[in-house]
Amino acid sequence: MHTCRNCNQSFRTELALELHLDTCKQGQLFCQECGDRFQEGDATQDGWHYECPNDDCDGDGLQDDLYRVEDVRTATH
Ligand SMILES: [Zn+2]
Ligand SMILES: [Zn+2]
Repeated sequence: MHTCRNCNQSFRTELALELHLDTCKQGQLFCQECGDRFQEGDATQDGWHYECPNDDCDGDGLQDDLYRVEDVRTATH
């Protein structure tokens, strides 16, 4: 079972989970360093400084290493 850690929905396959991640409203931020997605609240304490919530990743800074998924989408299309 693969669970979306943003919204806790479960999927039978990894592919289904990945497809879901594209549309998951709970995963608004994207880390360019590790390629992970997470909620905005997981990446910032004060709404000002953003950093990747993954311990083994040193990505930080909105528009630097972290991007809003919707911004990436509009930029690539
Ligand atoms: Zn989700
Ligand atoms: Zn990261």
